[in-house]
Amino acid sequence: MLKLYNTLKRKKEIFKPIGKTVGFYSCGPTVYWYQHIGNLRSYIFSDILKRVLKYNKYSVKHVMNVTDVGHLTSDADEGEDKMEKAARKEGKKAKDIANFYLKIFKEDFKKLNIIEPDVWCKATDYIKEQIIMIKLLEKKGFTYVTDDGVYFDSTKIKDYGKLALLKLEGLQEGKRTEVREKKNKTDFALWKFSEEKGKRQQEWKSPWGLGFPGWHIECSAMSSKHLGNQFDIHTGGEDHIPVHHTNEIAQSESAFDKKPWVNYWLHGSFLVFKGKKVSKSKGGLYTIEELEKQKYTPLTYRYFVLGAHYRTQLEFSLENLESSKNSLKRLRNLINDLEDDKEINKKYLKKFEKMINDDLNMPKALAVLWELIRDEKAKGKLKTIKEMDKVFGLDLLKKEDISKEVKELIEKREKYRDEKNWEKSDEIRDKLSEKGIILEDSEKGVKWRRKGF
Ligand code: AMP
Ligand code: ZN
Repeated sequence: MLKLYNTLKRKKEIFKPIGKTVGFYSCGPTVYWYQHIGNLRSYIFSDILKRVLKYNKYSVKHVMNVTDVGHLTSDADEGEDKMEKAARKEGKKAKDIANFYLKIFKEDFKKLNIIEPDVWCKATDYIKEQIIMIKLLEKKGFTYVTDDGVYFDSTKIKDYGKLALLKLEGLQEGKRTEVREKKNKTDFALWKFSEEKGKRQQEWKSPWGLGFPGWHIECSAMSSKHLGNQFDIHTGGEDHIPVHHTNEIAQSESAFDKKPWVNYWLHGSFLVFKGKKVSKSKGGLYTIEELEKQKYTPLTYRYFVLGAHYRTQLEFSLENLESSKNSLKRLRNLINDLEDDKEINKKYLKKFEKMINDDLNMPKALAVLWELIRDEKAKGKLKTIKEMDKVFGLDLLKKEDISKEVKELIEKREKYRDEKNWEKSDEIRDKLSEKGIILEDSEKGVKWRRKGF
């Protein structure tokens, strides 16, 4: 029995899918820059959710969008389009920028063992679908046109803001609106007009005029295209609750007449640095490549992320990452020493399943793994760890790659030992020790481990 915390209900619920295949949509990246480790925490969270669904034998169709147009620098429909801004700054085509950062994003997925979605969808490939959805909303009387775009009138629906538990008094008042001609602060753009023809790199004709789609409409149009007008799970970062997801719900429930449009809404909490969201000004804004340069593997970062529940903020620092690095190294060394066993340890696997099915409690699932490894009497460790790693995705059973040089030295030493040349064989042992490799001779042959573990 899988329980998930549903933001819509503010409580844990037993997961019951609509049909045979779980329809699962994750809000993806805006590809104008590198995704930082904060963003990537969100995707590790959705990956764990997908792995837990698969572990529970659900078939899953996972869709992720790629925002390559329409995401403005302000959530209040103001500011510049992030893609256009980056294109101008870098002196490149918006398309090339999108492809470049998407490629890196996909490489990060691979490095972090994040399973790719079944469908990637770019907003610019679905302009037609977005226009059709806006037309439908217009026909049903939910929209109005101003001098800068087509807007959704949030006062036309009774339960606007239910996801975020927004208090609407004061918000839905024209006077407080900062945006030109927008009737209510909570109204949002479905289509924005180009300010001047040809000034933007990405613009399309529409029944309302030349322009580009708003950010929220892409997720509603693309998810319904691939998952139908009602589906099971929608994920994103916690910052999406008050605006982006609130608006996705408003327009989709109005267009499709389905309530709830999505049954389970799950949100990942932020990665923070000194208590604040990681950012350029506050710090902690690393990319995976930058962590690698500091000798932290992507899987060390994954292990670090798994150490906190997805609904709690996680404090990032290089010291905290260092401690994850040491724990993971120790874990790998202990696993390296395990003897193969035929059976699975059902007792520990059950405990593990209880934790992952309790709203993806990965810190507790990791604690079960450690408990199993430390339990001297427990049998079937390797096979059980293999099962658990289907969810952890840490490559726990991949043999560590000893560099070719170390391998050769070990073989050379074996030769000297066969020749009973103890002096030479000890020399090699010392040389390896200097490299931080410790050898242990056992009846079954030579075993190695890293110093200090
Ligand atoms: P963006 O590319 O800005 O649309 O963000 C991509 C994803 O990263 C979204 O789901 C955000 O909610 C999420 N996100 C942004 N900053 C953080 C952070 N510091 N910690 C965790 N997730 C974040
Ligand atoms: Zn979205």
